[in-house]
Amino acid sequence: MTTFLKLLFRNRLAAVGAVVLAAILLLALITPILPLADPDVTATADRFQRPFSTGHLLGTDHLGRDLLSRLLWGTRLSLAVGIVAALVAATIGSGIGIVAGYFGGRTDNIIMRGVDMLMAFPYILLALAIVAALGPGLMNALIAVAAVNIPFFARNIRGVTVGLAGREFIDAARLAGMGHTRIILTELLPNVLSTIVIAMSTTVGWMILETAGLSFLGLGSQPPQADLGSMLGEARSALITNPHTSVVPGIMIFLIVMSINLLGDGVRDALDPRLRSGALTRPRAVTLVDRRGNVPHADQKGLLNIQQLETQFHVGPRVYRAVNKVSLHVNPGEALGVIGESGSGKSVTALSVMGLVASPPGVITGGAVRYEGEDLLAASYDSLRRKRGNNVAYIFQDPLSTLHPLYRVGDQLIEAIQAHHKVPDAEAKARAIELLKAVRIPNPESRIRNFPHEMSGGMRQRVGIAMALANDPDVIIADEPTTALDVTVQAQILSLLDDLRRERGLAIIFITHDFGVVAQLCDRVAVMYAGRIVEEGPTATILEHPAHPYTKRLMACVPELGGGKRELAAIPGLPPVVSDLPPGCAFAPRCTKATEACQQGEIDLAGTATHTVRCIHPEEELA
Ligand code: ADP
Ligand code: MG
Repeated sequence: MTTFLKLLFRNRLAAVGAVVLAAILLLALITPILPLADPDVTATADRFQRPFSTGHLLGTDHLGRDLLSRLLWGTRLSLAVGIVAALVAATIGSGIGIVAGYFGGRTDNIIMRGVDMLMAFPYILLALAIVAALGPGLMNALIAVAAVNIPFFARNIRGVTVGLAGREFIDAARLAGMGHTRIILTELLPNVLSTIVIAMSTTVGWMILETAGLSFLGLGSQPPQADLGSMLGEARSALITNPHTSVVPGIMIFLIVMSINLLGDGVRDALDPRLRSGALTRPRAVTLVDRRGNVPHADQKGLLNIQQLETQFHVGPRVYRAVNKVSLHVNPGEALGVIGESGSGKSVTALSVMGLVASPPGVITGGAVRYEGEDLLAASYDSLRRKRGNNVAYIFQDPLSTLHPLYRVGDQLIEAIQAHHKVPDAEAKARAIELLKAVRIPNPESRIRNFPHEMSGGMRQRVGIAMALANDPDVIIADEPTTALDVTVQAQILSLLDDLRRERGLAIIFITHDFGVVAQLCDRVAVMYAGRIVEEGPTATILEHPAHPYTKRLMACVPELGGGKRELAAIPGLPPVVSDLPPGCAFAPRCTKATEACQQGEIDLAGTATHTVRCIHPEEELA
């Protein structure tokens, strides 16, 4: 509940709506005890007094009745009718929806066709027809407005319920011997409640408007009783001569509906799980770079050279230092491994290279990424876009989520090619077939007509690699490309990548959490922990002589084929949260060799020209 309120009030507009609505509701509640004139007493001598005249703060109407008093009493009535109508519609509509969705089949069919029939009429016409049949009056207007809104709730809630009714927890409840009523009330209702609240918060304003509309037409509240709609209706004839009589209720309706809608939008954003995770914040096309002069001088290392990169996430007052002064480089034809536990900052490092970290909340606060000497962090969006996929390409973990499910893989490859090269379709298609051949997909001529779901995981990842190869990039950044695959397929994919880099002179940055994979593919390896490189060196050296205790522990996690009986050691403890890192070595709390000195002050990467480690008690002294 408190997180809900926090989320809600982070949205400024919703907060404004809530304040305005609270003020109006309060006014409506205390209206009976305010020293107001009787709203229905006419005094024709005082008709059409201007606002701010003595005794009548907002003036009087065509019968000399006090507008302030009528406004407050009218607001009270309109709010009450609108809210009650919304509650009635929500209760009946949701009830219908839950029952239809839960029982399904013929029950669902009969109920929903009935609802469809209600929906087939223009709703205002339907409301008019209902009032005409029942006779004018506020109560009947309420019934009419509630009735025309029932289908909206029924449809919404049925949709959600159908999704829930087939789920295991409902089966479990049935197996536990619960009856239908109990399942609906204790299992389904709590799960659809937020949807009901969302639907209500976005329709209450609408229903108040509809009630006012009926009253305006003389079908709702009857004279002399005031509600906002009837006040507007009576003021119609004096619209030009005495505009204040219509402006006063008009502004009130505007305020009520605006504040309810703003608040309702806020409630929906805060309650809807899909929106809560930030689906509404459109990330920028390029990660925000705010380096404040924190740019290292170019050094002539490698084809792609990441220098002192700092990428942070600014979430509210918190700063997550996901990548903290990371330096990496890779040469043509070289495979660099980046290894570390989940959450150590590998993916964020990789995504920072091409400005792909979502902003907000991501910000690159320092460092440089140099591709052939050019600083990509300073490059314009256009130049970056031309390099994405063309010079530096990515392969991600799950090809099922990176390939578009509705397009054939061939078309997606052709699209990737044509994004950077204006080639005719036939040529692009020939090239797509060639690419599939290059990634060892058998029978590529027919395979390009497959949809992603028609392929196995290993095949899909091959397509992912083909996409990355589509424009002959110089660097491929592979972010755990084999993690979702089983071991034999993983071995095939690794040997494919190895062949490709030898054939084409590709530079590969290979991100993984598995030392076995590093050993198979990589020339050099960098070990990451809590956003920093803790050790870097040639793979063979590090496998033989790991210097950082963390590296050693990571290697102990890999099972060895034919290694006999050996206990697989998990690393005790959890990686730290990168928002408040302790001073000194972030691994110290989990390290058996840690001393007091480890937790005081920064520890530098030190060692030889090729093998460096960030530790004051390394497993082995580096000569
Ligand atoms: P991994 O090494 O598993 O690829 P990541 O690079 O994805 O790790 O994440 C590094 C750190 O950045 C993690 O601690 C994670 O919590 C944090 N992080 C990643 N994305 C966000 C985000 N959108 N908001 C806040 N923190 C994030
Ligand atoms: Mg990752």
